[in-house]
Amino acid sequence: MAQHTAQPTVTTPELPDRLPIGALAPWAVFFGVLMLILLYFVGAEQGATAVVSGEEVHEWVHDARHLLGFPCH
Ligand SMILES: [Zn+2]
Repeated sequence: MAQHTAQPTVTTPELPDRLPIGALAPWAVFFGVLMLILLYFVGAEQGATAVVSGEEVHEWVHDARHLLGFPCH
């Protein structure tokens, strides 16, 4: 009586040896600028440096200001 056991066939995808930094750099710059803009609106969009007049932006990011420890009120 022959026993046959199924062998799982696992194929690993070919991974590149190195990450292509040239392809990642524009995305890193894009998300870095996006994060700086978000950080500006959360941390400094108020008072004399306000880009948008009124309190709407401040009210939208108010909880984030307290969460991140920016001085508020
Ligand atoms: Zn506050």
